[in-house]
Amino acid sequence: MKKRLVILGAGESGFGTAVLGLKQGYDVFVSDGGKIKSNYKKQLSDWKIEYEETKHTEEKILNADIVMKSPGIPEKAEMVKKIRKAGIKVVSEIEFGSWFTDAKIVGITGSNGKTTTTALTYHLLKSGGLNVGLGGNIGQSFAYQVATQNYEHYVLEISSFQLDDIEKFRPHIAVLTNITPDHLDRYNYDLQNYVASKFNITKYQTAADYFVYCADDEISAQNLTAYPSAAKKIPFGFDTEFAEGGYVKNDNIIININQNQFCMSIQELGLSGRHNVYNSLAAGIVANVYGLRKEQIRESLADMKSLEHRMESVAKVRNIEFINDSKATNVNSTWYALESMDKPVIWIAGGIDKGNDYTVLDPLVRKKVKGMICLGVDNTKLHTAFGRMVDIMVNVNNMTDAVRMAYNLGNPGDCVLLSPACASFDLFENYEDRGKKFKDAVIQL
Ligand code: ADP
Repeated sequence: MKKRLVILGAGESGFGTAVLGLKQGYDVFVSDGGKIKSNYKKQLSDWKIEYEETKHTEEKILNADIVMKSPGIPEKAEMVKKIRKAGIKVVSEIEFGSWFTDAKIVGITGSNGKTTTTALTYHLLKSGGLNVGLGGNIGQSFAYQVATQNYEHYVLEISSFQLDDIEKFRPHIAVLTNITPDHLDRYNYDLQNYVASKFNITKYQTAADYFVYCADDEISAQNLTAYPSAAKKIPFGFDTEFAEGGYVKNDNIIININQNQFCMSIQELGLSGRHNVYNSLAAGIVANVYGLRKEQIRESLADMKSLEHRMESVAKVRNIEFINDSKATNVNSTWYALESMDKPVIWIAGGIDKGNDYTVLDPLVRKKVKGMICLGVDNTKLHTAFGRMVDIMVNVNNMTDAVRMAYNLGNPGDCVLLSPACASFDLFENYEDRGKKFKDAVIQL
């Protein structure tokens, strides 16, 4: 008899898992408690996969052998509780996808820098001539690609939610960029639960695998012994000269792997800013573990372009530079944005505060920010945090006003930085919408 695979949630990973399940001979049913986007509905119909939306029919779900829970669905959802109570095996999409491919996997997780490091690593491996796919939170799901492509390698961006339900997922190279408190609402407000989930990336690795981590990141470094890994550990950071690992010396990044040294000037890196030195070290380590040609790695690290909404230089108007860092939805990523500024900054911040502690930004704000535009429905916390250290603070409630106001406050040689440190849902659909509106408003100036 066919095994029954039930998929909760019909987004990118749900749809991909459904197609893979079908191809692997499962009896597949997709159930989404909300409305399914029309493109996924059409594709599910095209593949003749049975689905339902705006409800969960228990008789069609609790008879499953396996459930794939989409990453957006929390444990506390009623249907998930019932599935757990019935003792049905629950896996994530990357777990399920990994059962049906022999491809080597580079799995990249962390609180910040996942997308950038994933895109950069993919760029390095692809330019190095490998038959490699890019997946995870970027583009098509991993499961869909396993069903429809024939890649020998994958570079996957992996969120903590994808790592919650794994049972043997084993990347050949695992990268943990850093861990800072985020998404704690999904982890019973306990940082340790979130840390455990991140460390799942290395849990099933063997001595033939590699675990790449940031030695400067306190939470990662402190937890290494609590979550033992059989993999070869490769640290990276700014200060320690690792015999095996990556570091910075005299403005060069240096990577030592397998008795081989790779060296490149920081100025030549295509992605600028301290955070991107970390990301370039991590991606560079992966490329060196793969043994790609050094000249090729150097060229690819140099010609990488910054991604949209991440420290993206939009334009200069009256010699005032406008930078879109809309993806900075927490304090840590904004710290890196401000840190990398070498001009006086007019800072656009605000939105939905996820319990932010702004004090880590104080020294940078004192030193670099000459004016602040608070762009949120409720800006009280920003005023309390920075009111006394910034000369000019203005409240606005739409992007056009934010950009115009920033432009009026600016002098030639200044920089206007959108790096909100907050989620966007009070005034925008998502961070992409916020970034696009910023760019549109700059073009209108
Ligand atoms: P993620 O996919 O983990 O959200 P992104 O690469 O999309 O990460 O970057 C998100 C935000 O974090 C951006 O504002 C970016 O400037 C900042 N950022 C990128 N890399 C790092 C890093 N290594 N450490 C801290 N912040 C980073």
